[in-house]
Amino acid sequence: MAEANNTPYPYEAPVSQGLFDRASVVTPGGVNSPVRAFRAVGGTPRFMVSGTGPYLTDADGREYVDLVCSWGPMILGHSHPEVIAAVQEAVARGTSFGTPGEGEVALAEEIVARIEPVEQVRLVSSGTEATMSAIRLARGFTGRAKVIKFAGCYHGHVDALLAAAGSGVATFGLPDTPGVTGAQAGDTIVLPYNDIEAVRAAFAAHPGEIACVITEASPGNMGVVPPRDGFNAGLKEACRENGALYISDEVMTGFRTSKAGWFGVDGVVPDLMTFGKVMGGGFPAAAFGGRADVMAHLAPAGPVYQAGTLSGNPIATAAGLAQLRLLDDAAYAKVDAVSEQLRTLVSDALTKEGVAHRVQNASNMFSVFFTDGEVRNYDDAKGQESFRFTPFFHSMLEQGVYLPPSAFESWFVSTAHDERAVERIAAALPAAARAAAEATA
Ligand SMILES: *Cc1c(COP(=O)(O)O)cnc(C)c1O
Repeated sequence: MAEANNTPYPYEAPVSQGLFDRASVVTPGGVNSPVRAFRAVGGTPRFMVSGTGPYLTDADGREYVDLVCSWGPMILGHSHPEVIAAVQEAVARGTSFGTPGEGEVALAEEIVARIEPVEQVRLVSSGTEATMSAIRLARGFTGRAKVIKFAGCYHGHVDALLAAAGSGVATFGLPDTPGVTGAQAGDTIVLPYNDIEAVRAAFAAHPGEIACVITEASPGNMGVVPPRDGFNAGLKEACRENGALYISDEVMTGFRTSKAGWFGVDGVVPDLMTFGKVMGGGFPAAAFGGRADVMAHLAPAGPVYQAGTLSGNPIATAAGLAQLRLLDDAAYAKVDAVSEQLRTLVSDALTKEGVAHRVQNASNMFSVFFTDGEVRNYDDAKGQESFRFTPFFHSMLEQGVYLPPSAFESWFVSTAHDERAVERIAAALPAAARAAAEATA
């Protein structure tokens, strides 16, 4: 493990800055995925060079306790020896064949064995592909065009699903990024999260037109906003009554919130599900699956086309399978316990400084909202005092704790977050809480 170089505040990151300058010449905004750029919090994004267990080391030689875990996938921590060994063993046999291979069968079997509603599964390379393909399949299966999604739910950068605009009342198909046409977003109905009446009203307004409802099983992309009791069951029921498919996006929660993801928590049976993040073990592997009669419509078994040059890649499937096999009940108990410990520590530190806050969790996923009230939907989340997050984030960063660089993201822990890591977080919290208390809008 690299020697920690915990330079006191104010801290500069000259090597990361140099890399960011180089990156900004050849890559838009200097990053390959927007939230990495620190736009929401300012400052220099840290370029990481290595990760071990709960720690990341940046290009300036500074070590951080990692509470992002690659946005969820690294649930066993970084460089888990058994995952690394599986990767090395696989890579020595070749990196891609463009043919079927046993690894993808074994990974599909593992997913089907863990997640009861998944009778068949198709492997892809990213969560975006999984949701895009699931929607195409739902449209192909039902012969209908319209899709219901919820404001604040993220399903990857699928054109039709980037219509997240609108709050309060139903907003019909307003794309919220240039490049997505009205035609691409026009069949998307965006509704407020946790509002089953809005869903019923949309079905009533569009009889026989809605192919599917897609929802994050328990949203983590507007911060952690769990479904209210009965909400997912209500979605399932509304879909069933109206001949639409219920798609549960478990790209973030899958194999994270329990052995069987959020399905393992609430037991609501979707028609289709999507997975990614944890199932790839840190490699690009994702999947969608569900009812066999629906999946039978997928090429080459059926007419709905879907394909991928690197789908089921042997290295990615080896890493994913190794990781899933290590994720037993004891592993989830460990992750859940660390999460609970951290939630208490964060809340206590903020309370001590008199900072209005609310820590919300969905099993071991959690996030901190700078607000008094319950956060039930995207409007509530946006209503928080997010200006308090910026100094909080930078204080933690400077003290060697790497948080997601946005107030609207889940924090992630791993089985590798041990006492030493927790102590470092605990030691950093008082100053960060004070910085949050002193923040002004
Ligand atoms: C991360 C995420 C996606 C997109 O996955 P990518 O692999 O980044 O394309 C889709 N849905 C949810 C719920 C996610 O959290």
